[in-house]
Amino acid sequence: MRGAVLHAPGDVRLERRDDPSIIEPTDAVISLPATCVCGSDLWPYRGVEAVDGPAPMGHEYVGIVEAVGSAVTTIKPGQFVIGSFFASDNTCEVCRAGYQSSCVHRELMGAIGTQAELARVPLADGTLVATPDVPPDDLIPSFLAASDVLGTGWFGAVAAEVSPGKTVAVVGDGAVGLLAVLASKRLGAERIIAMSRHESRQKLALEFGATDIIEERGDEGAARIRELTNGLGATRPGGHIGYVGVTHGELPGDELFFSHAHLHGGPAPVRRFLPELTDLIWNREIDPGRVFDLTLPLAEVAEGYRAMDERRAIKTLLCP
Ligand SMILES: [Zn+2]
Repeated sequence: MRGAVLHAPGDVRLERRDDPSIIEPTDAVISLPATCVCGSDLWPYRGVEAVDGPAPMGHEYVGIVEAVGSAVTTIKPGQFVIGSFFASDNTCEVCRAGYQSSCVHRELMGAIGTQAELARVPLADGTLVATPDVPPDDLIPSFLAASDVLGTGWFGAVAAEVSPGKTVAVVGDGAVGLLAVLASKRLGAERIIAMSRHESRQKLALEFGATDIIEERGDEGAARIRELTNGLGATRPGGHIGYVGVTHGELPGDELFFSHAHLHGGPAPVRRFLPELTDLIWNREIDPGRVFDLTLPLAEVAEGYRAMDERRAIKTLLCP
């Protein structure tokens, strides 16, 4: 099969890789009708994270089940399935509490590399959610979004305790931020403030349900939120902060302590939300696939990364 491999910062190539096979009896092998590039793929691409190369790339995936191991009971060949960036058994105590991304048996899909034509999925019964039938092609981008960026944005909103009548400020206008706007809208927020200075992203934020746009950043941006929310802080005392991006810096402990703010986040347990998100997409109630504003053949994966790195694209869809 062909798959994306990162050799060094800025150097991602489509190469021949070995076809995956069933290694553990709980595995499945899927074929991917499309794959995509994530904002977090840019950290090693930019050299901000060390590249232990050559490294297979990609952790977002949907696909048709091609084969299953002997211990797989619910997932069947021919099904269309969606999974998250952590494979999980969905049965351990941590999974049952809704934190599948910390499953005691979790496996990182990024190490397997799903920017490829085929992928092995560990713990198939726990990891994968099947759609009622094979979906029409136009729904595939939305299911692919559910695999990470929608699920992550959704968790951000849930972690921030978004509920009917609340005011939410979304920091970040990448795919996750934009889909946190969509999630906040679905969860009933009354006012959704999106922070963005890019016209195309502002437009999508408004379409997803944002009521206000703030172009300023940092302290200036926080001041603008205070103006819009009658003098409260960016997060009011006792308010909730959901954070779903890896922290490339330090969280201010003192400030948090004296603010009474609730803080919850981490690698999103996307698997918790997949059944609900799959239903919403299948019934065409949400269209998260609109975050893909660039579609390229898999062979042009290098350009897909460049376009996102240079912020010419929100998110790149790659088709074989
Ligand atoms: Zn588990």
